[in-house]
Amino acid sequence: MKIPITVKPKTTMNNKTGSWRTLKPKFLYDKCTACGICPRVCPEGIIKQIDKINSLGKLPYDCDFNYCKGCSLCAEVCPFKAIVMELDQK
Ligand code: SF4
Ligand code: SF4
Repeated sequence: MKIPITVKPKTTMNNKTGSWRTLKPKFLYDKCTACGICPRVCPEGIIKQIDKINSLGKLPYDCDFNYCKGCSLCAEVCPFKAIVMELDQK
């Protein structure tokens, strides 16, 4: 008998999680080189490019706060310090 021991990724796309977040990422658009690393590590798959060119001539990334859990992974991996975690003042 197979027993599932892991949860499929992106499950919270069906269930908004923004209300129980303590920290939230702030995406500093003008520091983003659009390297594409942060969307690969986000467990919720909610980091996307925005439709506005920054001062580096790139399309920077941001996330959907309806689903961001504030896990900080995106900020940890950004090699350009273009994401900082801050207290979520809801
Ligand atoms: S804090 Fe976590 S859930 Fe939120 S955008 Fe970054 S990696 Fe995704
Ligand atoms: S890891 Fe940093 S520089 Fe790379 S796309 Fe994400 S925010 Fe931009």
